[in-house]
Amino acid sequence: MSAMQWFYTFVKKYKYRLLCALLLVTITSVLAIINPYVSGMLIDEVIEGGKHSLLPKLIVILIGITVVRSILRYLFLMIFEKSSQGVLYSMRDALYKRLLEQDFQFYNKNRTGDLMSRQTGDMDAIRHFVAYVIYAIYENVILFIIALVMIFTVDVRLALCMVIVLPFTALTTYFQMKNIKPAFHKIRNQFSSLNTFAQENISGNRVVKAFAKEDFEIEKFDKENDAYRAAELGATAIWTKYIPIFEFFSNLLYAILMLVGGIMVVNKQMTLGNLFTINGYLWMLNNPLRMAGWLTNDVQRFVTSVEKIYSTFCEEPDIKEPEGAYKGKRVKGNIEFRHVNYKAEDDVILKDIDFTVKSGQTVGIIGATGSGKSTIMNLLCRFYDVTKGEVCIDGVNVKDMDLHYLRDHIGMAMQDVFLFSDTVEGNIAYGRPNCTFEEVERVAKIANAHDFILKMPEGYDTIVGERGVGLSGGQKQRISLARALLKNPSIVILDDTTSAVDMETESQIQEALGNLADERTVFVIAHRISSIKDADLILVLDNGRIVESGNHDSLLDKKGYYYTVFNHQYGEFDTIASMKEGIK
Ligand code: ATP
Ligand code: MG
Repeated sequence: MSAMQWFYTFVKKYKYRLLCALLLVTITSVLAIINPYVSGMLIDEVIEGGKHSLLPKLIVILIGITVVRSILRYLFLMIFEKSSQGVLYSMRDALYKRLLEQDFQFYNKNRTGDLMSRQTGDMDAIRHFVAYVIYAIYENVILFIIALVMIFTVDVRLALCMVIVLPFTALTTYFQMKNIKPAFHKIRNQFSSLNTFAQENISGNRVVKAFAKEDFEIEKFDKENDAYRAAELGATAIWTKYIPIFEFFSNLLYAILMLVGGIMVVNKQMTLGNLFTINGYLWMLNNPLRMAGWLTNDVQRFVTSVEKIYSTFCEEPDIKEPEGAYKGKRVKGNIEFRHVNYKAEDDVILKDIDFTVKSGQTVGIIGATGSGKSTIMNLLCRFYDVTKGEVCIDGVNVKDMDLHYLRDHIGMAMQDVFLFSDTVEGNIAYGRPNCTFEEVERVAKIANAHDFILKMPEGYDTIVGERGVGLSGGQKQRISLARALLKNPSIVILDDTTSAVDMETESQIQEALGNLADERTVFVIAHRISSIKDADLILVLDNGRIVESGNHDSLLDKKGYYYTVFNHQYGEFDTIASMKEGIK
């Protein structure tokens, strides 16, 4: 399907309404013939001919036509405006749904600012096209044809004299648009760049402040801002050059009309009324030619925007569901990684990951930063696909599973906690918005969040800012843990979830989680041994490989990497890893 065909699928619903509106445009345009004609009659018949009795009739026609045209214009404008909003609504919806379907890789490579531009600036270009450009082009074409026909009907000789100017106006429009096209292109790119810059800086303003880099960022922003202004001024410089030329041709047309028409009137070859009528049609001839350039630009903007939106829409997620994907009853939580490798670009991130976990077990994954712990969980949730081997849950390869079914049974407290601008309760209940307050409270207690939530100004109704602003790192982690638990998942993943809470709180959380463990498989990712030492299975990761595995005691007996870390005063893998680096 081409971008335009895709666009048409949204317009199709409004096809008849739009055709009706175009009919109204046609009637309005045709009615535009009448007033100049009546004005001509007013001069010839009433003023020159002395038929004064005609005056009230002609005045009523003039006013009547103006009123009818205004009403019709209002009607078709409403239809176009409403249809454009309808088209936009469904298109925005479709794109948004698509964005939510996209996988991690998509968000890794697309800038947020660009994706926002798709939903805002590009969508607006489409709205403008449906609401205005369609009828403006149609109306101008009709007016132009009508004016041409009418002028020729009134007086062929004068019409021929005037038509000579038209190719020059058309040529000027052509050159204007040709020259301005790259400038408009530049404006659009620069605008997108400015948007992205502003968006990143607003999101990252805490880092900017922490590093006291305001001046540096303002300077960078000024550069972007300057470039945008320069792009706008560049385009202005081009189109303003053409204004005097258009004015010249417009005045020339008028001068020809007055000169040739005047001579003809004096020589009695044409009536004054006809001259007046032609004068009335003059704008209908001139205006479309002048508008042509701008409308061409609007069309180009529209085409580019549809193409951009469509290309974003068409990006196929790497993670796909097979036909008839597996969807069973509740997942039990038996997990098997069979010789799994994962490569990103050309980097081997995980090598030969092989382990089995039974439902109800707790697995600790430990290793230095960057060793691949989170990646293992990303493969389990199928945020990425393995490059070799298999990940199976209850004996079914995750690649064969329905994605919603799979993820619905996993409760993940991510390492990079993200909270929505909503109440604490709303954030915890995110996975099950219809749950009762008691359930929210229950999981908040398990996550050791209940007490601090009660101390907040409005307890569970306290609104937390974007990304959880206003909460400490540990508080955010505990809310995120409660959110993961509320889903009542068969598999719980806690990725570094207690790294920012003190040891005592951590052990309280672990105890509470321990009571749950019978019902579900729990993965605990951590840097410190204290966080995972009670796990049924501990996987020790180093540089993308499982270098040791077993329970705490068996690992200590091995007297290997785990043992070394445990005996180190901090019991943290990162410290040992950096010591190893130092020794190398
Ligand atoms: P930490 O303890 O700091 O959270 P981790 O063990 O969870 O570390 P991972 O996030 O799994 O580490 O990352 C392991 C390595 O893989 C890192 O070097 C990271 O840069 C790389 N990596 C992870 N995902 C991708 C990806 N999508 N594309 C490229 N590289 C990736
Ligand atoms: Mg990680």
